[in-house]
Amino acid sequence: MWVEREVFVMGTTLRIGVRAPSRAEGVGAIQEAFHAVRRADSLLSTWREDSEIARLNRAPVGRPVALPLELYRLLRDLERWSRETGGAFDPGIGALVDAWDLRGRGRIPSRIELAEARSRAGMARFAFADRSHSVTKRHEDAWIDTGAFGKGAALGAARTALQRRGIESAFLNFGGQVLALGAGRGAEWVVPVAHPARRDQPAMRIRLRDRSASTSSQSERYVEPEGRRLGHILDPRTGEPVPAWGSVTVVAEDPTLADILSTALLVLGPEAALVWARPHDDVGVLVLEELEGRVVARWNHGLSPFLVSDSTHNRGG
Ligand code: ADP
Ligand code: MG
Repeated sequence: MWVEREVFVMGTTLRIGVRAPSRAEGVGAIQEAFHAVRRADSLLSTWREDSEIARLNRAPVGRPVALPLELYRLLRDLERWSRETGGAFDPGIGALVDAWDLRGRGRIPSRIELAEARSRAGMARFAFADRSHSVTKRHEDAWIDTGAFGKGAALGAARTALQRRGIESAFLNFGGQVLALGAGRGAEWVVPVAHPARRDQPAMRIRLRDRSASTSSQSERYVEPEGRRLGHILDPRTGEPVPAWGSVTVVAEDPTLADILSTALLVLGPEAALVWARPHDDVGVLVLEELEGRVVARWNHGLSPFLVSDSTHNRGG
């Protein structure tokens, strides 16, 4: 039987549906998954003071902070993905988030302020010690923003919890990032990909099985200081908010990777994202670009198996 539950966590809704032998087993498995997500939040939230990452973020310069091994390993992985995306993904952007006041009402920093913020931002402002799995801040104002990968990491933890309870078919929707486990009603789950500017309107459809799909765009969340619209995704290479050009959807087995890459490829922009995606066909990449009111869809080879064929008239690349 099919059992579904929803909670509000990490600032958004998480909906989990599972196929289970009985209602009690289904509910039990979902509760375990919720528990795993709350635990991920207690490691990763930058919105509460008592999380592990908050402890690191407010530590004084030069003092090593020992982290739980799983968090340490995750940060190490992120550092690697930062390099592999040419710095387009960099969770060390905290000082830039502050400079643009993206968590407040928004503000436009002066050139000097922006240059200063850049000198305090980036994963290079943190030193890693593998033996003690500790991290040391190198600059007072440096902090790690978990926004681009926290939901993905939590989805991974939820999947592990469900599988441990013997669940083979489940569908998780965490504020728009989805994870499909096993078979849906048919052989796969069919999932809409939103129009880049109008979130409630589907632009295409993909079918998933044992995969996660994450979409990033600038029109989703923004602030508007001095009449200038600033999206919540920054280009760490320039320190500037990325223009609202469209959206990137990434399909991957690992939900953390899908989350990381959708943000990174949005930063790269449509052309560079597709260049990056061509050799990386172990992940599916769908680029939706808004051009004069029309949506142009392009994708890599890795996406083709997931495309629902009637969903677009555009061509892959
Ligand atoms: P959503 O949270 O809407 O799913 P994303 O996964 O794309 O969107 O994450 C965007 C968040 O990631 C931002 O709100 C911010 O916290 C953080 N962020 C913004 N730019 C970057 C970047 N270049 N690298 C890493 N993290 C970023
Ligand atoms: Mg992301």
